[in-house]
Amino acid sequence: MSGGGVEVAEEQRGAGAEEIDRSLSSAPPRLCSSASSVTIAGIPVANLTENETVAEIDRLIADQRPHYAAVVNAGKIVAANQDERLKQILLDADLVTADGMSVVWASRVLGQPLKQRVTGIDLFERLIAHAEQRGLSVYLLGAREESVRGVVEQFTKQYPSLQIAGYHNGYFTDSESQSLVESIRLSRADLLFVAMGSPAQEYWIASNIGHTGVRFALGVGGSFDHVSGLARRAPRWMQRIGFEWLYRFLREPRRMWRRYLIGNSLFILLIARQRIGHSRGDTTAIR
Ligand code: UDP
Repeated sequence: MSGGGVEVAEEQRGAGAEEIDRSLSSAPPRLCSSASSVTIAGIPVANLTENETVAEIDRLIADQRPHYAAVVNAGKIVAANQDERLKQILLDADLVTADGMSVVWASRVLGQPLKQRVTGIDLFERLIAHAEQRGLSVYLLGAREESVRGVVEQFTKQYPSLQIAGYHNGYFTDSESQSLVESIRLSRADLLFVAMGSPAQEYWIASNIGHTGVRFALGVGGSFDHVSGLARRAPRWMQRIGFEWLYRFLREPRRMWRRYLIGNSLFILLIARQRIGHSRGDTTAIR
């Protein structure tokens, strides 16, 4: 599938922006100290509201080094407990937020309630609005060609001053990945949104962010399909009560049953173990 590209207008970039060496050789310190995060089955989740999260990301963007955030639901936390590479990427992230309501429920069960659920798609849309206001350019990577193009069209209408430095679909080979990294670097994008599903997007960000020149990257799962209108999000009321998963399950039962049935059961087990460990005063991490 061919990738789309938007010519980068050099003048679109913020005045005085300099080429920054964002090599990851010296890993930046994690933003979230244990004081502002809640550890859910071994993964520290930021205890921030959506507004606070945007403010923290703003702080990260102001820094010269590359940063990335991730969002987690029950399935991703379970996956991270079975996949050391994913777990390390989440531990190294500057910020991890609760994408799924089950993560917020787990924090309550553990007696350390998170303030709010901060989903990938909500954060994505907030950061796009923020980028328009602040004159930051964005690169969109992921989803099918028609989907990512649809996002570009939608954002061009909705945020007329938004600087879209470039875009590319999420279907490429390992060898094409290298030239993609180079196009992102040449686009001089400030923010990178990667919508390739998990764990592919987390792997891609962690391996490549240091070479893309972006200041901040976020994995946003299926968000491009929602913004482009190719996939519908659950009604607001279902999102509010934490039943978005049921909506997705009913729409795609064959693909989702394993994720939700097995994933959610394992998640409950992990949380139960952590809870029992706490009440026994056991401080060892859950594996
Ligand atoms: N996708 C992609 N490249 C791939 C496989 C998937 O860009 O090789 C895209 C896919 O088109 C979809 C998104 O990744 O837009 C995955 O969505 P999903 O709903 O699985 O993400 P989740 O948020 O549940 O992780």
